[in-house]
Amino acid sequence: MFLDPPEATHTAGLDRLTAFLPNAGGDYARWRNHDFGPAGDNRVSGLSPWLRHRLLLEETVIDHAIDHHGLDGAEKFIQEVCWRTYWKGFLERRPMHWHDYHVACEEARQQQAKDRRLAADIEQALGGETGIEAFDAWVQELRETGYLHNHARMWFASIWVFTLELPWALGADFFLRHLLDGDPASNTLSWRWVAGLHTPGKAYIARSSNINKYTNGRFNPGYQLNTQVSPPEGIERPPVGPSPTAADWRLTPTSGLLITEEDLLPETLLGDPDWPLVMAVQTTDWRSQGSVSDRVRRFARSGLEDALARNPGARQEGPLELTHPADAEAVRDAALAAGVEQVLTPWIPTGPTADAMAMLDPVLEAAGIRRQPVLRDWDRLHWPAATHGFFRFWKAARPLIVERQATRAS
Ligand SMILES: Cc1cc2nc3c(=O)[nH]c(=O)nc-3n(C[C@H](O)[C@H](O)[C@H](O)COP(=O)(O)OP(=O)(O)OC[C@H]3O[C@@H](n4cnc5c(N)ncnc54)[C@H](O)[C@@H]3O)c2cc1C
Repeated sequence: MFLDPPEATHTAGLDRLTAFLPNAGGDYARWRNHDFGPAGDNRVSGLSPWLRHRLLLEETVIDHAIDHHGLDGAEKFIQEVCWRTYWKGFLERRPMHWHDYHVACEEARQQQAKDRRLAADIEQALGGETGIEAFDAWVQELRETGYLHNHARMWFASIWVFTLELPWALGADFFLRHLLDGDPASNTLSWRWVAGLHTPGKAYIARSSNINKYTNGRFNPGYQLNTQVSPPEGIERPPVGPSPTAADWRLTPTSGLLITEEDLLPETLLGDPDWPLVMAVQTTDWRSQGSVSDRVRRFARSGLEDALARNPGARQEGPLELTHPADAEAVRDAALAAGVEQVLTPWIPTGPTADAMAMLDPVLEAAGIRRQPVLRDWDRLHWPAATHGFFRFWKAARPLIVERQATRAS
């Protein structure tokens, strides 16, 4: 999909959307599950790196798809875009899954340090040397392009957990370090779903016949896969927390803008005031304790630079690395130098950047500076329904999309 690294700009995202739109109807519904390989004629959009960083908004993509094909004609594609909204809302309402994922990573790393056999198996898998041709090819594809087709992600995760019997959290960590669209909600919750930790009694089992069919005969693992899988028992869904509500916020002459890689279109939310200070912070390294790939870091950095260029301020700072306590002090000092008392940020969902904010916020507060997150209407309206399965969510999302189209038309 991305043999050449994609450009992390809003314009490049719009160009890709425009090129894809003719295929967002029946063609997508028919071919979306086929993975013809990195150089093949895949019919999926490849929009996820832009959507993940909000260099494109879910609603923009959906509006354009409807303009081209109507809601019925593009429904399958629109549902897929809504999976992103659903997973984000789901994690926002159950942030403990992000915490538990960190704990699972830590436990797996400790186990790996003690168990030489496990360490060797993990190394073999991450090196693409398992002898399962399809799996090894996906490892290389992910490392080289920063992308895998959705179906390949499902097969990969299933083989990792059930055939190679490796800790699921380290597979999820590998994805998060290498995917250009690496996302705390979609990634963690999809891995949990495959591993049987999401829906009680259900896990995703990769089968050779399915892989053979949907890779157009490129791979056939035959009897190499373990399909005798019993999903883990005793899985319970934790209680659902409240959906975030829009806090009252006011734009004052001493309000600065803080841009993060979670939302690179702040101007569509906060407008275009005369900012005394615009800052961008890079938090990519918070995605993992391990090393995040250069491609992923570069994509996020270029996206931050693009957002800075679109949002001028009397003073500009960044992109600043926000990794260590000294970095938080640099952000605070920039705010103090510009006389800023409040920094506005588009909402930062549960995940690595929110973890970085937990380091930054006390440093700002101690200097009398408040960070004010601002929720988008899209999230405010849709996240309340992210309580159970996707299809219940979709029942609530579809009428909201219909209503939105009526407003656009009037
Ligand atoms: C184990 C596993 C891990 C995953 N990790 C991530 C991740 O870290 N980041 C990420 O963005 N997606 C993740 N996904 C979801 C999905 O695979 C990708 O969003 C999709 O493959 C992106 O390719 P595309 O843009 O060509 O998708 P298209 O098929 O063109 O879909 C259009 C858009 O819909 C959204 N979408 C489609 N399928 C899903 C889905 N299953 N879940 C959530 N959103 C979806 C994406 O925003 C995508 O760009 C994961 C799926 C699995 C099974």
